[in-house]
Amino acid sequence: MSQPFKYILLAIFIIFTSCKVQRLKTFDYDEPVDTSTKTIQYQQKKTYKLGNVYADNLFDGARMNNFEKLNDSVFRVTILPENEPINASPHYAFNIWSDSLKSIFLQLNYPTAKHRYWPKYSVDDKSWFRLDSSNVGLSKVDSIVELKIKLSSKKLKIAAQEIKTSGYVRSWAKKQLNNVDVKYITIGKSKLNRDLIMLEIGSGSPKNKEVILLFSRQHPPEVTGYLALESFVEQLLKDNHLSRDFRKKYRILVFPLLNPDGVDLGHWRHNAGGIDLNRDWAYYRQPETKIIANYIIDYVNKNANDVILGIDFHSTFNDLFYTLKDDLRSKLYPFKDYWLSGIDKYFPDYSPNDIPGSLGTFTKGWYYNQFNAASITYEIGDETPRDFISEKAEVAAREMMKLLIFKNSDKD
Ligand SMILES: [Zn+2]
Repeated sequence: MSQPFKYILLAIFIIFTSCKVQRLKTFDYDEPVDTSTKTIQYQQKKTYKLGNVYADNLFDGARMNNFEKLNDSVFRVTILPENEPINASPHYAFNIWSDSLKSIFLQLNYPTAKHRYWPKYSVDDKSWFRLDSSNVGLSKVDSIVELKIKLSSKKLKIAAQEIKTSGYVRSWAKKQLNNVDVKYITIGKSKLNRDLIMLEIGSGSPKNKEVILLFSRQHPPEVTGYLALESFVEQLLKDNHLSRDFRKKYRILVFPLLNPDGVDLGHWRHNAGGIDLNRDWAYYRQPETKIIANYIIDYVNKNANDVILGIDFHSTFNDLFYTLKDDLRSKLYPFKDYWLSGIDKYFPDYSPNDIPGSLGTFTKGWYYNQFNAASITYEIGDETPRDFISEKAEVAAREMMKLLIFKNSDKD
């Protein structure tokens, strides 16, 4: 064999062995999920006028399917999901007001589910407060909750959680651009043509860097998980030694709102295709999962990246972390044990609740199966105090950075 030919063969061999081209994988699980598009029911958007009491659902994130007057002082809002079957996270949000000062009893009526979210209110869409417990009564029928509220001519917004629409999330994401290490990228469109956005965080070239994925808001009412993501990301963007060094060493891809249609339509859980997006991470049948998964695969192939960690922010009844069972060993094993113990040590009165589990058609399975990455579902309680959500997320971000900053990037 001639000498130049040997060199060409050697070059081809090196190229093939050094670039591990990622392809989007589909997975079979014991319990497959049908994530093909289903029909959703749109709520009728309108202003209701019942005597001198008014209510409307004319804003993004609203959910009110009917408004009725039972008698002079008792009114009833009916809340229905976008389609069924559905995991019971009955989101509601509406404005209510009156021509004159008036106290009323307002029933929240859920024909298909149980009440879950403690009522919050706002008069300026910015500051939110919990309704005082003396004004919230559970009726004997647990599908109806009765609120005692005072109405005036000023619109009172009552909602399951603080309203964080797609417009709000985009403006929060754009605000992060005051850090030069942030890029704001629209990677595609949702089923109903809303922007799917990403923040790319890191300084210098992305080439050959290890990547961390941060996801949030597959499930519209899971605002508390989203609030944790905000504080987590803001900590990564601090102008201090740790955060700067971290941004230099790693690339962080943040997808703060995976389900913009569901959020703006006031959905309980699904996207505009009537599907729980967090069951589609083995099939990619919905536009949101398909676009985001393909974007990440293309990104890591273009820049020869290695995804080492994925964290997906959600909400449930209490704070907890869904992690991988010990026999599922990611390339970062045992990262989460050190990470959670760091968070544990910081708080005298709080210990992280670690719930190791198996894989499925959700992101936790995807991060691990697709990339062999460490994989965590970061769950915040629906009613966890908002200042604790922020503080814990800041600590979690710092503990992650401290653990990863001295990691060798031992790429083969
Ligand atoms: Zn969720």
